[in-house]
Parts: sequence; structure tokens; C-alpha cells
Amino acid sequence: MSSSTLPLSTAAVLSGSAGFAAELAPVLNPARTSEVVGWYAQASVEVVDDVVRAAAAAAPLWDALGALERGRLMAAAATALEHGIDERAELLTREQGKVLWESRLDVGGAPRLLDYYAGLAATLDTEEVVHDERGTTVIRRVPIGPTVVIVPWNYPVYLCMMVLAPALAAGNPVIVKPSELAPLALTETLAILARHLPPGVVNVVPGTGPAAGAALVGHPLVRKVLFTGGTQTGRSVLRGAAENITSVSLELGGNDPAVILESAVVDDQLIREIRRSVYTCTGQVCFNIKRLYVHRSRYDEFVEQFKSAVDEIVVGDGLHPESTIGPLNNRRQWESVTALIAETERQGGTVDVLGRAHPEARWNDGHFMLPSVITGVGHEASVVGCEQFGPTVPILPFDDEDEAVRMANDTEFGLAASVWSSDIDHALALGRRIEAGSVFVNSHRVGSSDMTMPFGGMKRSGLGRNHGMWAIDECSELQALSHRLDTASFPGPPTH
Ligand code: NAD
Repeated sequence: MSSSTLPLSTAAVLSGSAGFAAELAPVLNPARTSEVVGWYAQASVEVVDDVVRAAAAAAPLWDALGALERGRLMAAAATALEHGIDERAELLTREQGKVLWESRLDVGGAPRLLDYYAGLAATLDTEEVVHDERGTTVIRRVPIGPTVVIVPWNYPVYLCMMVLAPALAAGNPVIVKPSELAPLALTETLAILARHLPPGVVNVVPGTGPAAGAALVGHPLVRKVLFTGGTQTGRSVLRGAAENITSVSLELGGNDPAVILESAVVDDQLIREIRRSVYTCTGQVCFNIKRLYVHRSRYDEFVEQFKSAVDEIVVGDGLHPESTIGPLNNRRQWESVTALIAETERQGGTVDVLGRAHPEARWNDGHFMLPSVITGVGHEASVVGCEQFGPTVPILPFDDEDEAVRMANDTEFGLAASVWSSDIDHALALGRRIEAGSVFVNSHRVGSSDMTMPFGGMKRSGLGRNHGMWAIDECSELQALSHRLDTASFPGPPTH
């Protein structure tokens, strides 16, 4: 099956429908926008309804299999997904833009996450039974029902599987709406997964957010929406879910601060770790470092070393092995970061444009941008207050830690943060004062959080928590099944 026909045919196959006529829209390569990498179908409201009904019909069977059997099927799918990672990673780089090692990490997350939740599923069939002098109560975890997964374009496979795998383990059929900006590698991944599960359990609805996404969110048979994307879209999703009182979990944007304390050792390791955290995926990761606060006593040495490390970055096609970062994913993102940098300069900031273009990069045919470092701005500058989602970062000095904590918390976001110091206890103590769902000490990267830690945002960075049993809880209902001999401890109205 060629990638150019996959989204349409996969959606038809996965939904169990015989096929549907739909308009096709192209997926363009961000490194050479004249290249069409594939096509996605724009599902209509009728198709959305058809797919949701197929998922709802599959729900009782998937639940009745029991968690142990669900886990067994998921583990088999994980084994199948170990094959073809390189091919799907290359497809992801061509549609998303990021460098190959990152695409492998993204695509390779699918089998790892499925396998992890397959293992966790083995523990889910047990019920808590309480016998006491008043009778018996059974506390049951039950599936919540058809679950919609709405996916962004930056880490499409990993971020989808991070919420989809626990939803499946908990007994829910899923309907995935990939991002129209990177749907292909994810759809291929879901097609392989779907082949290992009963029909109707894994479904894909391709299409745009305002059309297919909104129709899914507002569908009366959908009981749960697991949304990952921007905060503004998250608001629309909450509004759309309100009519049917549909449960929503949100993984939204971030404006992650990193606080480098006076006690930090500014060495090569620290500089490279922070560089990686800022520029991974060309700055387009929800919990990349978005602003740096450095103690004034270390400020000059930090800025000098950081700039010289950023200057090593090579920007090019993600398929070129020498590229350190790829292009931005889409024109709108490129324009938004370009405008933000121009505004920073108008506000008096210094923007040092660093790094170099790969000699084979087709600069004018892609959404390429050299990395930059911003100094000379105050805390009120636009680039400090927003989620830039691009290869640039402001560095601000601070004089005392109360000031650093105040600036770190002065944001509507609260996804992640980091504190950097050679005094770990002190850094941990400072971390308690930062309003973020995850606070890391001396690290801040994809991988700093894992299944043993809850993951999610405070404030306008999200609702709910992911990873491990926290993720299972997000897509389960609890039922109390009780037979009590004596309910007199809660007296009713007096009888005469
Ligand atoms: P986006 O909000 O534009 O789109 C996300 C998804 O929502 C896409 O599939 C899109 O089609 C869909 N969508 C758009 N409008 C919709 C609507 N009205 N109803 C239903 N669905 C709709 O986000 P993006 O540009 O794809 O991703 C970037 C954003 O995602 C950034 O803000 C980033 O911080 C955030 N993000 C957060 C996390 C996290 O875990 N917290 C992870 C990755 C990305």
C-alpha cells in the first residue's frame, strides 16, 4: 500500500465501513514543500458518525475479553510494530520535518508504550471486595466507553500511543483523529495495531480539526476525549464536550522555565543538555525549555558558552545525517516565530542568529530557520510570556531566588520546569515552589519524565494526568456494587 493512498483506505478499513468518498488533501514535506508526501481524506460528519457507531458496537466485546486478554493482544501488536520502525520513521521525517533519530524515538515509542500497558493490563482484572458487618461492597473499575484521541503534529506517534495504550488496556475502543499536518506515519502505525485487535476497537478518522475533530468531540456516543494540542484548541474541545457532559483530559501548551542557580556548574555537559532541551524538534515540543533564568553571577559565562554551542547546530533536511535540526513543520509556525523574533527586536532585544544551513538544504523551498539566542529582554517581553514553539530562546538574569521563582511562576502555563544546581537538595527544595506538573533537577528533555511519574500540566497547560495507573484512571469509571443488610446508619424520614 503506498503512503499516498493510505489515510483514505486505512480509515475505511479500520472503521469497518465499505469505503467512503471524501476529498483528499495533500501532506507536504516541510523540507521541500513542492513534494507531496501523501494524502489524507477529509472525513465528513456522516463518516464520523459511522466510525463512532462502529466503535460503540465493538465496546462490549472489548470489555468482555477481560484485561488479561486485551493485554495479550496488545503485546502481540507491540511485537509486530517492532518491525518497520526505520521505514515509518523516514515517512515521519518527510511529513513532520524533524531529524531521523527523533522520528525513530517517536515511532519506536509505539511498541514500547503498548508493551508497557499490556503488562499493566494484567493487574486490572482484580476488583476490591469489602465484606463487613453491614454486607458486601464491590468496587469495580469499568471502561468509560468510546474514546476519541486527538493528536498534534510534533510527536504524533508517541503522543497518540501515550494516551491510546492505557485507554485500550482499560477496555475502551478508540477513535483517533491525527493532525492534518503529520497523519501518515501514525495512520500506518494504527493500521498495524488494528490488525491485531477485534474489528472496531481501533479506528482512524482523518480530517481537519474544526470539521472532523469537532464532530468527534460533540458526538453523543463518545464518552471520553483525550486531547493533546494547543491551549486555545483545548478551550474549543472543552466547549464542544460540554453539551453531552463528555469527560475530557487535556495535554496543552507550555512555557517551561529553566532556572540556573548560582551553585550550578556551567560546564559542557550542562550546556549541551540545555541546548538539547531548547532545540529538540526545532523547538516544537510542549515541554522544551522556553525561557532561561540564569543567576547574574553566572550569566555572562553561561550566555557565551551557550551561544557557542548553539552555533554548532546544522539546519537541514531531517533525512540528511549531518542535520542537527530540521525545518519548522508548517508555514504558519514559521511565520509566527519569524514575527515573534521581529517583535523582540522592536522591543529592544538582541537576537543572535547562529548555526549554519546544511549545504544541500533547499532553503527557499522549506520552512527552515536558523537557531537564535535572545538577550537584553525583560520579563515582560512577548517572547518570554508566550510559547514560541520554534528554535529560539530568551536568557534573562536574576539576582535572588525569590525573584527567579516569581518570574518562573508568572505565566498562565504550568507544564514542566527545571532547576540546575550542584546542590541537589537545594534544587529540590526550590522545585517545590514552582507551579508546574513536572519539575526536573539537572535535566529537562524528552525522557526526563517516565511511567513512574504522573505527567500533565497545571494551570492552562492541561487537565488530568498521564503515565502508568494515572492514565488508566483517566479513562475508567469506578462503580460501587453494594448489598448492605443494614442501611439504617443513614436514617430516612421518621415513620409514624
Ligand atoms: P492544535 O491545537 O492546533 O491541534 C491539535 C489537534 O487538534 C490536531 O489534530 C487538530 O486537527 C485538532 N483540532 C484543531 N481544532 C480542533 C477543534 N475545534 N476541535 C477538535 N480538534 C481540533 O495543536 P498543534 O499545532 O497540532 O500542536 C502544537 C500544540 O500542542 C502546542 O501548543 C504544544 O505545546 C501542544 N502540545 C502539548 C503536549 C502535551 O503533552 N502537553 C504535547 C504536544 C503538543
